[in-house]
Amino acid sequence: MEKWLVGIDVGGTTIKMAFITTAGEIVSKWEIPTNTEDGGKYITKEIGQSLAEKVSELGESKEKLQGIGIGAPGFINMETGFIYHAVNIGWRDFPLKDSLEEETGLSVIVDNDANIAALGEMWLGAGDGANDLLCVTLGTGVGGGIVSNGNIVQGVNGMAGEIGHLTSVVEGGYQCNCGKTGCLETVASATGIARLATDGLSTYSDSSLHQVMEQDGKLTSKAVFDAYAAGDSLAKQAVETTCFHLGFAIGNLANAINPAKIVIGGGVSKAGNLLLEPLKKEFIKYALPRVAEGADFAIATLGNDAGVIGGAWLAKENSR
Ligand code: ZN
Repeated sequence: MEKWLVGIDVGGTTIKMAFITTAGEIVSKWEIPTNTEDGGKYITKEIGQSLAEKVSELGESKEKLQGIGIGAPGFINMETGFIYHAVNIGWRDFPLKDSLEEETGLSVIVDNDANIAALGEMWLGAGDGANDLLCVTLGTGVGGGIVSNGNIVQGVNGMAGEIGHLTSVVEGGYQCNCGKTGCLETVASATGIARLATDGLSTYSDSSLHQVMEQDGKLTSKAVFDAYAAGDSLAKQAVETTCFHLGFAIGNLANAINPAKIVIGGGVSKAGNLLLEPLKKEFIKYALPRVAEGADFAIATLGNDAGVIGGAWLAKENSR
């Protein structure tokens, strides 16, 4: 009997789940709300119930399920499946692996959300089969996943790939959530790009972004890229600043890990070539020529499915 892999991606508002074949076909995907009550202690029970309901809805029994790969935000010990702290969920010192295994009777493997997204893109997305891959997610924050020889680089305590907190060599910089200043995340996330443009409004009195600000009361990274496409000088300044920091960080990282693919995902990546072109221009200033030659840039293709697909990939590898 061909079994299904279970991929799960836990977020602050929804939990995405999918049954996926070992060949990588999505049989079914759905989501449930994240119940953050009482420190998130009902979440694993609700996942277990939802899996059982879905499998019977599809006319199958639990024996059809091979194992679970689950991603969650926060600091995670992959070996023990222990979550130290997931701010958006409420988990603190939570034994996610043990708790979910108890609720489902399936073997569970845990990793952080940025890492499973990278694995998803490696397996079925923009990674295109590459075994050495750098995945950068530009969303509310900046997440990273480094895949080396087909495996996620974890580091000694699960912190590898936290590239959003590479700090700028420029002194000062914006305050970051992590407590430091000048982190990549403060200038290259959606929030960071919008802030760069907002801070430049007073200098660029003729910018079209003044109208957006008047209408909407705020700027978004999408508004900045729209204005950039139309040739707005403030937007140009903001996008170029972001691409300088991002290209500098990625170029140096690439010198260290020599990736075949550099996959850019997250909301900001919807800008496509408007982002990639100036980014590549900066990247080649810092990457060694042979490193730059070996590395292809690509926009992530799996969108919100990257997490469940990467989770399923982990479940597949875990059961070999
Ligand atoms: Zn930081």
